[in-house]
Amino acid sequence: MTKDLLSAAINLKVVGRAGTGVDNIDTPAATMQGVLVVNTPGGNTISTAELTFTHMLALSRNIPQAVASLKAGKWERNKYTGTELTGKTLAVIGLGRIGREVARWGRAFGMTTIGFDPIVSAAAARAAGIEPFPLEEVWAKADFITLHTPLTKDTRHLINAETLKKCKKGVRIVNCARGGIIDEGALLEALESGHVAGASLDVYESEPPTEKERPLVIHPRVVSTPHLGANTKDAQVRVAKDIAIQLSDILEQKDFVGVVNAPNIDFARKSQLIPYLQLAEKVGSLQAQLIGTGKIKRINVTMQGKDVAVSEMSESIKIAVLKGTLSHLLDQEVNFLNAGPLATDMGLSVNSVLVERQDTQFSNTIKVEFEMDGFLNFSRSITGTVFGGSQLRIIEIDGFKTDIPPTGSVVFFNNLDRPGALKAIAGVLSKNNCNISHFSLGRQTKEGKALGAITLDEPVPQNVLEEIGTLPEISNCSQVQLLDMADKVFRIHQKSEPTYVAGDARPHVRPENPQFSSGPTKKRPGYSYAALGTDCLGRSHRSKIGKAKLKLAIEESKRLLQLPEDYRLGIVPASDTGAYEMAMWSMLGARPVDVFYWESFGKGWFTDAVSHLGLKESVGIQEHSADYGQLPDFTKYVF
Ligand code: NAD
Repeated sequence: MTKDLLSAAINLKVVGRAGTGVDNIDTPAATMQGVLVVNTPGGNTISTAELTFTHMLALSRNIPQAVASLKAGKWERNKYTGTELTGKTLAVIGLGRIGREVARWGRAFGMTTIGFDPIVSAAAARAAGIEPFPLEEVWAKADFITLHTPLTKDTRHLINAETLKKCKKGVRIVNCARGGIIDEGALLEALESGHVAGASLDVYESEPPTEKERPLVIHPRVVSTPHLGANTKDAQVRVAKDIAIQLSDILEQKDFVGVVNAPNIDFARKSQLIPYLQLAEKVGSLQAQLIGTGKIKRINVTMQGKDVAVSEMSESIKIAVLKGTLSHLLDQEVNFLNAGPLATDMGLSVNSVLVERQDTQFSNTIKVEFEMDGFLNFSRSITGTVFGGSQLRIIEIDGFKTDIPPTGSVVFFNNLDRPGALKAIAGVLSKNNCNISHFSLGRQTKEGKALGAITLDEPVPQNVLEEIGTLPEISNCSQVQLLDMADKVFRIHQKSEPTYVAGDARPHVRPENPQFSSGPTKKRPGYSYAALGTDCLGRSHRSKIGKAKLKLAIEESKRLLQLPEDYRLGIVPASDTGAYEMAMWSMLGARPVDVFYWESFGKGWFTDAVSHLGLKESVGIQEHSADYGQLPDFTKYVF
């Protein structure tokens, strides 16, 4: 499900994925559009673990090659001499459902099982029969490496030229998790040099693999299957049943099982709790996305202030932190019910501290500290607060004072606090049409090291991030995604209360004149049609606060005017024609329109907008105006 496809589906409410990963769905775009994304993890654990083991056996004994050779009329016994599994060391990367299952069978075959997972504690790993090691130590010990992590920015190219060099000569590698965890170019080189004895792949960076990947797929020491992990009749029946039940429950609003992009849907009715739970979850998610390849030793959550430092809130906040953390690291739905048990299962230790009042300007704060283990023995602390009852802010990261709305895509970087650094980064973003919606710079000392955070309308493509990473002024550049949906989704799914939903009323025709005459279209660099209509529009209300106020004003106006449910009401708090035209285009389109204008918002603009939008008399345009200084008498009209 691409962004274009999603944006064309204007009535779409939910996308179901009968399986685990949702990486074939543009989840940030769905989230922006208020569409739920639902998956069915767990249903294919056994099938995938079995395929992994099949791969490992096939790889160790050259089964596919030997079968093909015999069928071709040859008898090549020496050529296909294999290796035993018994007595070998199996390294499992990612000790989740599939990883643990594979390890269990590895032990049944007499293998020594070692592994790495950023959150599974040493005790929990040992209880599953796996000896945990820091990633750096795993490479040199393994005879077989099997990958069972989701594809995240930290696992992307986890197996690369550098890590391969650290592996034993003759290592064998299995990937039945996700394409992209292995740098395929580096693997091919290591196979050709003989450093890697063989690889077994079910997943690829592009699926189906492109011509570029063919040399790897057809390599004589590679066993390749076309993403068959979940392809058993048993798993397909299981996930098909699961997704059908989940979708029907969601549409009937009975239950929201498997939703991956609506953080607090289960808490949506408890309005006063939501902002703090959202904040806690976002700080947890932010922490998880910044851990790199380190391992979490302990999580400390400090709640300060009279609203949060109370026992009934603190437990939920702790769970919300875990939910944010685990949702990023696990490939399964994490909700308020299972976050605690999942953490316990993984042996993840979480401490919470309640502080009634601290010497701070903020009335309530939530601080989350990740203590890291192993080579990366450090801790990172992130503090957030809630302003005005609903505005979330990250106010401190590792001692740097910040002011970051935790929403959408945020690019973090360190720079030396000197003139030029920001210009350089802004230059790269603007050249690549990446639109900045918020910027925050935290510094500890003047001209010392600074922490920058840029919030953007859309995720920054990988190549642009890499370009930023090469700037001499910038270091430690990384991007995080902080999905943002909760109340929006909940409202869409509330039957009883019809709500204005930004962006779902786009017209099906394009305006006759695609270049609006003035306003943001011209003034806002990088503005595109694709970006049009997903939210309230206008120069002066791109901030979250402004949008929230607008949304409220729209809802109140609809209620006061008793407008029918299907009536779209737009308010454009901008004084230029371009903004008005864009809002018209976005919200009204080719449908009957009542236009009211008064004061300086005059006849001329009405004519302009109607002609630029190509609205035809035939679709029904009613014009209502009032004398200068007067409002039109709304009571006269039947809408
Ligand atoms: P899971 O969520 O139960 O486990 C994932 C584990 O990976 C977690 O324990 C997590 O802590 C760990 N992890 C996250 N980041 C890590 C990192 N940087 N380094 C090491 N470990 C890390 O998921 P699962 O159900 O076991 O699935 C594992 C993978 O298999 C997923 O990517 C899933 O999409 C894939 N899968 C593939 C197929 C297929 O058809 N080939 C089928 C099902 C699942």
